Amino acid sequence: MLRVGLTGGIGAGKSTVANRLSEHGAVLIDSDKIAREVVEPGTPGLAELVEAFGEDILGSDGALDRPALAAKAFADEDSRKRLNSIVHPRVGARTAELMAAAAPDAIIVHDIPLLVEGGLAPMYHLVVMVDAPEEVRVRRLVEARGMAEPDARARIKAQATTDQRRAVADVWFDNSGAPDIVLAEVDALWADRLTPFEANVRLRKPRAPMSPKIASYDETWPVQAERALARIRVVAGDNAVRIDHIGSTSVPGLPAKDILDLQLTVSTLDRADELAQALSDAGFPRAEGEWYDDAHGEEGTWPKRFHFGGDPRRPVNLHVRSQETPAWRLALLFPEWLRQNPGERDAYAAVKNAMAAKHAGDGTVEQYTDEKQVWVDAAFARADAWAESTGWTP
Ligand code: ADP
Repeated sequence: MLRVGLTGGIGAGKSTVANRLSEHGAVLIDSDKIAREVVEPGTPGLAELVEAFGEDILGSDGALDRPALAAKAFADEDSRKRLNSIVHPRVGARTAELMAAAAPDAIIVHDIPLLVEGGLAPMYHLVVMVDAPEEVRVRRLVEARGMAEPDARARIKAQATTDQRRAVADVWFDNSGAPDIVLAEVDALWADRLTPFEANVRLRKPRAPMSPKIASYDETWPVQAERALARIRVVAGDNAVRIDHIGSTSVPGLPAKDILDLQLTVSTLDRADELAQALSDAGFPRAEGEWYDDAHGEEGTWPKRFHFGGDPRRPVNLHVRSQETPAWRLALLFPEWLRQNPGERDAYAAVKNAMAAKHAGDGTVEQYTDEKQVWVDAAFARADAWAESTGWTP
């Protein structure tokens, strides 16, 4: 199943987006709704709240009186922690239960206001952010929801900043215009990204081969890479010796194929095999077959594992390499040498552009890669000499 985290500042219009995705067939999990359900009359959650904060948090109908609870629970830090220790585990358990009940081919949309604040972004295959300028959100909260303006402003202040949201958002919807505008964008997201993403992950479907196409350097590449690295970090845990953004997209100013190369370094390939299933499920399916790196003049080849990103709009290559061969070090040295030597970077750019032009109609990148490799192999010797003279180590 595919897990989509849907979030955004209060009043941005998450519900509009969530409802449309649900109409398309997404399984909607609404955090706010669950938070209310776990403390409904008759629940153990409500009983525990009463035990902690007293009978006067209940209204005359026996239901939770939220303002009365807030007055007690937000009075001091200990009370706030007590409230969270009662509500959070119950919300977590119910959320996990709903996710586990979804079909294997489900696209789950988790509407979770505090996704950014809770550092939860890496737990999702994709994070969708709904945003609108602060003034627009305040106006909506006041006019449509009847909130007092100072309250609306205080709620917005307490939430994550736009920069914090930008960093984790794979998809950014600006919902400051008419609802129809964002709804059309949601329709396209469903058809062009979520549906094929889910199928790619479930069926472990590799990317279709294509001709080499070189894009100008994109300064968001490192930020996009960091989001993927964060997801891999969660899965790999202590099995990761290190996780890095490598390849041409990690070299500022270098044009490249718009595919992020990432490297997970493990102590042995047994560790890689143990992680294969979890990485695949997390959105990075393992590629079939045997994969290896050329041993650059040494006998034989260096085996590795290869995974690819399932997101059709964010191509990723994930190389899982063992510390037992020199390949992982070389993969870190080469881009670092290019970053430190702009002349070499520009020479490499010229080679890439020439080879991509020559092979623009191939339908695969194989010939392009092979011919480019002649320059790269020679460059490795210069990069090694540079490492020697500067004392560079990974
Ligand atoms: P939240 O992101 O806090 O869940 P809602 O989805 O409840 O926000 O939206 C807040 C309010 O703004 C609602 O009353 C909703 O109907 C309204 N709204 C949502 N999108 C738009 C839009 N594009 N234009 C005008 N009002 C909108």
